[in-house]
Amino acid sequence: MKVIKSAASLFKYLKKLKARGKSVGFVPTMGALHAGHLSLIRQARKENNIVAVSIFVNPAQFGPQEDFKNYPRPLPKDLALCRKEKVDFVFLPRPEDMYAEGFSTYISVEGLSETLCGKSRPGHFRGVATIVAKLLNIVQPDVIYLGQKDAQQAVIIKRMVRDLNIPVKVKIMPTLREINGLALSSRNAYLDKKERQDALVLSKALALAKILIQSGARDTARIIGSMRRLISKKKNAKIDYIAIVDTENLKPVKKISGNYLIALAVKIGKTRLIDNFQGRFSTQSESVPA
Ligand code: AMP
Repeated sequence: MKVIKSAASLFKYLKKLKARGKSVGFVPTMGALHAGHLSLIRQARKENNIVAVSIFVNPAQFGPQEDFKNYPRPLPKDLALCRKEKVDFVFLPRPEDMYAEGFSTYISVEGLSETLCGKSRPGHFRGVATIVAKLLNIVQPDVIYLGQKDAQQAVIIKRMVRDLNIPVKVKIMPTLREINGLALSSRNAYLDKKERQDALVLSKALALAKILIQSGARDTARIIGSMRRLISKKKNAKIDYIAIVDTENLKPVKKISGNYLIALAVKIGKTRLIDNFQGRFSTQSESVPA
């Protein structure tokens, strides 16, 4: 496995691979790899000749009061995991190379970035879209693999790729969870034992919404109200938002219909966690993922 630290050396390496017609599958990450990341890497391994992973804690997507400094960076462990998964190369750029002196070009995916997580994290998705665009230019993959766990991010990147004609296929993979339902996240490392228990309230609220929809509930305000009541029982949990939105434009929907996304962000103690599920409802057939 190669560890490549600069765009210039990566370009050289890729030129040879591309000349030999190799397909490249790419998994961008911020490191602190867990089974969720590994599921993306495994999918990329199945579908491509070359698997690329980037590890970069992107300063541009963190707000001034957020956890950029403390974000976990267990690099030797991450590299060992990548090696075990037979990753071909890890791109490990230096922040000063990614954001050189005078850096001033950003990408804003308007209309999708200001809502949901974007409301409490202004500028976050501008940082995400910019770094993903840069990484796509540098790694030049055929396919990029993203997790449904970050549903809004996935919608935004798909839109950016479409709007800017970036020649890459975007694949969204399902959220990996612990058996108890907790969505895997690098930020779970911040939770103590009690908070881990409290954090189950996110997936429980989603499970409640699914049950309500399966038993005929359609009014999204009422579904959100029930989720809110469930979460509010946990003293340690502070709701940032709960929303039911259209999966394409992320606009709130009043009644459950078509493709909908139920997304929420909740602070457990000091740790902000997100989760979601995507469902499809039509009068002919109803499908609510388990
Ligand atoms: P991050 O390192 O948090 O930026 O995540 C890198 C990629 O892994 C993103 O596409 C995430 O959506 C994805 N990811 C994070 N957690 C999970 C999970 N539990 N299951 C599947 N994919 C995930």
